[in-house]
Amino acid sequence: MLHVPVGSREKGDDFSSDDSLIEHFDVIIVGSGPAGYTASIYTSRAKLKTLIITGSLPGGQLMTTSEVENYPGFPNGIFGPELMINMKQQSERFGTTMITDEVTKVDFKNMPFKIYTESSIYTAESVLISTGATPRKLGIEPEQAFSGRGISYCATCDGPFFKDQHIVVVGGGDTALEEANFLTKFGKSVKIIHRRDNLRASKILQERAFENPKIEFIWNSTVVDIKGDGKISSIIIKNNKTGVETKLNVGGLFVAIGHEPNTSIFKDQIDMDDRGYVIVKNHTNTNIDGVFASGDVHDYRYRQAITAAGFGCMAALDIEKWLAERKQ
Ligand code: NAP
Repeated sequence: MLHVPVGSREKGDDFSSDDSLIEHFDVIIVGSGPAGYTASIYTSRAKLKTLIITGSLPGGQLMTTSEVENYPGFPNGIFGPELMINMKQQSERFGTTMITDEVTKVDFKNMPFKIYTESSIYTAESVLISTGATPRKLGIEPEQAFSGRGISYCATCDGPFFKDQHIVVVGGGDTALEEANFLTKFGKSVKIIHRRDNLRASKILQERAFENPKIEFIWNSTVVDIKGDGKISSIIIKNNKTGVETKLNVGGLFVAIGHEPNTSIFKDQIDMDDRGYVIVKNHTNTNIDGVFASGDVHDYRYRQAITAAGFGCMAALDIEKWLAERKQ
């Protein structure tokens, strides 16, 4: 089919009435974190015509992290952006087409599948959803400025950077308690700040946290301000019952108040759970034949770069097999 270069198209143009303007792929991958890039390395290397639609931030969450110390193969660590650029280059080496654009709509009801972006329409025999998840933010003004400068959304990723410091974890769910437990290996102290006086976390994790002498709970409280000169040095918390504000000196603030899977564009197209995570069966298959999912968009348990990359590899192998079987 004829391909009209993306640059020659205008936002809002309607290509749906002229199929000759639509470029067709064996595989379209939506999302460019470790899952999407890894999948594309495998599918392109297997000679499947592959398009990645990267979203507005190619590389995903790791583009906003500093050093990654636990991705195998880098004994001295690697910066998140460098790791993602390496993955991108490795994928391009095998011929993946990359488009930096946002997907606005999908149609999985008919074959070939249709993917609409802000400037184009593409069709595909198979689609991989690897749009990831976004950590929920506290939503207070200084949060953005201190992100990566004392504020972290992943204890496994960043905990070791806070050795012998006073650490605060916000949240009352499984993640907050699991992360707080983990962080006691590094921090001088770990305080969990929860907005209620009742934890949402499972009983076993509650017991473990209550038994840990390094963990202290501060109930009915929220973080209302963050202070520091370039790096975080203290936070102001407010008791929701009394209104009293208290200053805490902290070196690290871990926000563990849940994640939002980036799945709004797939609503009514594939099965999701009540939180919006894509439901997969047999590891990477969605309820639509030919549509697959990998990474944090379905995996709320592990959420690591290496596990996302692993899921991406699995999805690519499943896609390859699925396409081969259809051709027989
Ligand atoms: P979660 O269960 O949704 O808990 C989020 C916590 O953050 C809640 O305590 C919530 O308070 C609090 N919160 C939400 N928004 C807030 C805000 N704006 N300000 C302050 N606090 C806020 O999320 P999660 O802990 O990440 O867990 C997600 C899923 O993964 C769960 O199903 C969990 O069971 C699972 N998980 C399992 C394991 C494990 O099995 N080992 C480990 C990690 C996660 P409220 O309680 O007041 O709503």
